[in-house]
Amino acid sequence: MRIVLASANPDKLRELRSILSELGLEVVPVSDVAPGWHVEETGATLEENALLKARAAASATGLPAVADDTGLCVRALGGGPGVYSSRFAGESATYSQNVCKLLSRLIGETPEMRRACFRTAAAIALPDGTSETVSGRAEGRITEAPMGKGGFGYDPVFLSDDLGRTYAEATPEQKDLVSHRGRAFRNLLPLIRRLVLHDEEQGS
Ligand code: IMP
Repeated sequence: MRIVLASANPDKLRELRSILSELGLEVVPVSDVAPGWHVEETGATLEENALLKARAAASATGLPAVADDTGLCVRALGGGPGVYSSRFAGESATYSQNVCKLLSRLIGETPEMRRACFRTAAAIALPDGTSETVSGRAEGRITEAPMGKGGFGYDPVFLSDDLGRTYAEATPEQKDLVSHRGRAFRNLLPLIRRLVLHDEEQGS
């Protein structure tokens, strides 16, 4: 059975494939089934955006669809940039522009005010309109300078409490075990068992 991921991000695809491998489901990117698929992320919350993407992908493909939306929440920024994390330095900002803006906004802030968390909302939607959301979060602190070469986005400046190093200094497997998205995707497992595989016993 196939399930689509409403994203073209190869890191997310790899992560979801590895988590769903135990269910024997084939995870395919939405663009493989509906070429050119695109949806505007107009939601005011991570949950709204995840649902919006999952519902649109399920209706475009006729297959169960999973989507996620992530935000970085920094204490000194009053919980921002949150839902605006990908656009922090502007509409088409690059990862490094967002990181630069974040570091400059935090100059002179204490370690306490540099506390941060990543939060992911993950949604599953079926072509019949059924949908549900779950979430996952990971705690840490924003460093004063980038460290490490791996990962993407804010990884080089997110010092993970769980790992004691930045996400960019960890291997993908180490990050997946503790990350916001890894936690959210694993929280989807019982929902997928129940809604997609109709496995009442394991899903209830
Ligand atoms: P998205 O909702 O997954 O596209 O995430 C929104 C933004 O949050 C991305 O553009 C990245 O800047 C950032 N982000 C999401 N997940 C991660 C992560 O695992 N590490 C670092 N940054 C991330």
